[in-house]
Amino acid sequence: MQKADIVIIGGGIAGTALAYALDNDGDVVLLEAGDQLGAHATGRSAALYSETYGTLPIRALTVASGPFLRHPPPGFTEGPLLSPRPVLHIARADQMDELTRALISMQALVPSINPLTGPECRTLAPLLREAHIAAGILEPNACDINVERLRTAYRDGARQRGARIVTSAPVTALSRQNGFWQVESPAGTWQARIVVNAAGVLSEQVATLAGVPAIGLQPMRRTVSLIDPPAGLEIGRMPFILDIAGAFFLKPEGGALLFSSADNTPVAPGDALPDEQAAARAIQRVQEACGLEIKGPSQSWAVLRSFVADRNPVIGFDPAAEGFFWLAALGGSAIQTAPALSGFAAGLLRGEETPDRLTGLGFTAAMVAPARLR
Ligand SMILES: Cc1cc2nc3c(=O)[nH]c(=O)nc-3n(C[C@H](O)[C@H](O)[C@H](O)COP(=O)(O)OP(=O)(O)OC[C@H]3O[C@@H](n4cnc5c(N)ncnc54)[C@H](O)[C@@H]3O)c2cc1C
Repeated sequence: MQKADIVIIGGGIAGTALAYALDNDGDVVLLEAGDQLGAHATGRSAALYSETYGTLPIRALTVASGPFLRHPPPGFTEGPLLSPRPVLHIARADQMDELTRALISMQALVPSINPLTGPECRTLAPLLREAHIAAGILEPNACDINVERLRTAYRDGARQRGARIVTSAPVTALSRQNGFWQVESPAGTWQARIVVNAAGVLSEQVATLAGVPAIGLQPMRRTVSLIDPPAGLEIGRMPFILDIAGAFFLKPEGGALLFSSADNTPVAPGDALPDEQAAARAIQRVQEACGLEIKGPSQSWAVLRSFVADRNPVIGFDPAAEGFFWLAALGGSAIQTAPALSGFAAGLLRGEETPDRLTGLGFTAAMVAPARLR
């Protein structure tokens, strides 16, 4: 039996960033089921930083993460974490009402948002078909995130701060004995005052192991495809293109084009296979909007994102299980929110108040507390 103060279960971006944020907070152990960190949702995201994405708490956590991502602490990484990738929300003529509504709500949040005419959209993204684009909205300060750099910086920083990271350590049993959690895995057994459930899409299963009531976590499948861009098309500076109704997105990714019909299909937890119909819908929508001739994606895969009913994250101690802390239901945003998310979670673990930089953005701890789901 090994001892720790806090055991974090799950080495995706959420668990790893928290291990880093827990500086001088005692003996921290992170247990990851796989043989490497970040191989699940974290390694397969669209890697975008967008301040208009998601519910109020997500937007607040995103905005509050901006300063860290733009100017990481000295020595945290060897290169920048963000690079410019404006988001262009596009609308057909029959989507203009939707565009106007979206513009009003986005401008209230992000003052740099501005409306564009159809020709202005095509100047930014010449592959868009004239007949398809009536107008757009530009989020000029959105960025690509270098996820690998961010993830490894958190991992290395956590180790430097004394956290022990153990891979190939799937947690198989959890029990509470004499005021401590006993955490069992094939890699060993740990005893700790606090366990943090950062197991991503498998968080509900981890709670079940501990006898903790469910929070209604629902894994949702998203199918993503990659194609080579047409010869001669310069895509390096192309914006992230997002249909205003969320029917598809398209972005440059390492010399290729990444796209999806942005499907959200409820599925059982576990590794999902790509949905061929969703991939076909994505091809059709990209072809309609861009006039690209896509004979078939060079590669398609599916990733699960997990949400609870209100689509807010679940962060905090479970009211029904002493020392059981949730860091879950992070949906489509745990990478762009990682700095503020992990800082807020570490503060809760220390018993601190919500920082002013979050409350000033309308965020409250109650919005993300597990108690709201019971
Ligand atoms: C297509 C797509 C696009 C996305 N785009 C963006 C984006 O642009 N920007 C953004 O911020 N976010 C984006 N996301 C969301 C982002 O990827 C997730 O929010 C984030 O990766 C979740 O991190 P996590 O650490 O909670 O989960 P994961 O990365 O899934 O990590 C959980 C870890 O827990 C481990 N685990 C599970 N059970 C156990 C156990 N019993 N014992 C030990 N370990 C266990 C797993 O092996 C896994 O490594 C996107 C997601 C998808 C699918």
